[in-house]
Amino acid sequence: MSNFILKDIKIIIPGHEPKINKEKRFIPVCEPYLCGNELKYVTRCVREGWISSIGKYVEEFESKFAKACGAKYAVACSNGTTALHLALATLGIGPGDEVIIPAFTMIASGNAVTYTGAMFKLVDSEMATWNMDVSQIEKAITKRTKAIMPVHTYGHPVDMDKILKIARKHKLYVVEDAAEAHGALYKGRKIGSIGDFSCFSFYANKIITTGEGGMLTTNNRKLAEKARTLRGHAFSEERHFWHKQVGFNYRMTSLQAAVGIAQTEKFSQLVSLRRSHARLYSSLLNGVKGLTLPPEASWAKNVFWMYGVLVEDSFGMTRDELRRELAKTGVETRSFFVPLHFQPVYAGNFRNQRFPVAEELCRKGFYLPSSSGLTKNEITYITSCIKNIASNLK
Ligand SMILES: *Cc1c(COP(=O)(O)O)cnc(C)c1O
Repeated sequence: MSNFILKDIKIIIPGHEPKINKEKRFIPVCEPYLCGNELKYVTRCVREGWISSIGKYVEEFESKFAKACGAKYAVACSNGTTALHLALATLGIGPGDEVIIPAFTMIASGNAVTYTGAMFKLVDSEMATWNMDVSQIEKAITKRTKAIMPVHTYGHPVDMDKILKIARKHKLYVVEDAAEAHGALYKGRKIGSIGDFSCFSFYANKIITTGEGGMLTTNNRKLAEKARTLRGHAFSEERHFWHKQVGFNYRMTSLQAAVGIAQTEKFSQLVSLRRSHARLYSSLLNGVKGLTLPPEASWAKNVFWMYGVLVEDSFGMTRDELRRELAKTGVETRSFFVPLHFQPVYAGNFRNQRFPVAEELCRKGFYLPSSSGLTKNEITYITSCIKNIASNLK
C-alpha cells in the first residue's frame, strides 16, 4: 500500500512554487495543483464556521461537479473507495452476489466489492486500451452476477456501449470506477453520465482533488436519494434517531468541498493540462525503440491521469532497471498496478486463473511524472534522460 501513498505531498500553488535546488533536481511522480480559488474558499468556509458536512458547500460542489460530468445528480463522499462501496450498497449488492471487475486495477475496486460481502470475478485486460477486455465479460457471468464494474484505467475510457449491451442482456448494473477519469469522453459522452453510477476519487494525486474525497454521479433520482440517505447513517424521515437500514458515515466535509468547488471551476484546464503534457511526452518519446506509449482509441478522449509507458524486451533493460536509472537523475516514477489475483489477500480465490495481459502490464508498465503543474522544461528533461539511457545501451 505504501507504494500508493504520497508520503509528503507538496502542493503547487502558482506563484508560490517551492524553490528548486538546481544541484539536485527532483521531479515527483504526481503533485496536486491548486491553481484557483482553493485558499479563498477554504478561508471563507472556516470564517463562516462551516466545517462539518452540513451547509451549502457540499451541495454546491455536488451540483457543479454533476454539471461538469453531464450527470443529473452527484453525492459527495469521504473518498473514492467509500463512493464505490456506497454505489454497490445502494444497488443492494451483498453476500451471495458477484461483481465483475478487471484483474488489472487498484486494490480499492476489489475491496469495495468485498465490503458488501459479495465476491468479485476477474476479467483480463486488452493491450489496445489497457482496460478490461469487454469480449471476455460474458464468460465470467454466472447466476450470481449482479453488476459489472469497468475501470477507466489511467484515464482511458472503457468501450461502454459493449458493456451496456451485455448489462441489458443479462440484467446487470453498471458501476463505473472513474477514479482516474475526470473529464474523459467516450464517443463524445462524458464519463460520469453513462452507467447506473460512476465513482470518482479526489485523492491528492487525482486530476481533481480535495485532498481526500470522492463522488458518485448518476442520472437516476431514486438511486441518488438512496445513496444520500445511506451516506449519512440512513436517518429516517418519520422520527429522529430512527433507522431502518444499515447506513454509513461516508460524508464529505465542507472544507473538502470548498477545495473541490475551486478545482471544479478549473475542471477543463486541469484536464487539458494532463492531455497536453501527454502529447508532449509522446512526441518526444516517439521512435524510442522498445517503449510502448499510452493508447488512445479513435472513439476515446484519454485524460492521461498518469502518463504510462511499457518497457518492451527490445528496449534492452528491464522496467525496473530503467526506473532505477531514472531515479538517479531525479525523476520519480511508479510501477503499474499489481493485478488483484496476485494480491496476497485475494490470491487464494484465483489459484488456477491467469490473466496474461494484466500480468504483462504489471511486469512492463510504469508511469512518468504526471502532475498537472509540470513544465515543458521538466518534460523535456525527463524524456532526454530516457533517451540518454537508451542510447547508452547501444
Ligand atoms: C484512486 C483510486 C481509487 C480509490 O480512491 P481513494 O479516494 O483513494 O479511496 C479507486 N479506484 C481506482 C482505479 C483508483 O485509481
